[in-house]
Amino acid sequence: MRWKQLTRHVWGGYVYWPLPVMVWIVEDRDGLTLVDAGIPSMWNSLYQALNVRFKNKPLVRVLLTHSHGDHVGMLPNLTRTLQVPIVVHPLEADRISEIASNPIISLDLDHTYGGLIPYHTPGHSPGHVVFYHPDDQILLAGDLFTAFSGKLRRPIAKFTPDMEESLRSGRILERLDPKLTACAHCGVVKHASSQYPKLLCKGHGSR
Ligand SMILES: [Zn+2]
Repeated sequence: MRWKQLTRHVWGGYVYWPLPVMVWIVEDRDGLTLVDAGIPSMWNSLYQALNVRFKNKPLVRVLLTHSHGDHVGMLPNLTRTLQVPIVVHPLEADRISEIASNPIISLDLDHTYGGLIPYHTPGHSPGHVVFYHPDDQILLAGDLFTAFSGKLRRPIAKFTPDMEESLRSGRILERLDPKLTACAHCGVVKHASSQYPKLLCKGHGSR
């Protein structure tokens, strides 16, 4: 897994699997937050990074954007090794309790987690959430969108049961106007709110 510092507090860790996958480490006063748990093969590299690159602060929680397999893959190994809580929207929690042994905390949309504010953005999955870091003006968007070559795209249609609802949820870009929007598949888009209207047009679907 390769790491790239995206903003002052946020690092992206990514692999090519055959679809690129990105997870995030967010540093805060109270420690580190892992946002999304990627795929199983990322675990060794994440564990090494926690012990070397990020060794000055402990991992204190895992936040999940949703419970699809390519966002929770490290949880079995992670929960065997680290006693950190998993925070997930209640609509996604059943699946997590099947694969992870650590305490599961229901996401509170009125709470800030390690500098990150959650927003409920259903459509790709019922309990999909995104996390905004206001200090760094970066949105960790999970699968609300995809990004290819710096361009904002729709989420992958095959895995998005309600595309219309997901696109409506995408209006969060207009509300927050983040400088950077990081998508799990895979990349970072600058000033994505200016690209959002194009997603609503036919012919600008996902790959
Ligand atoms: Zn997904």
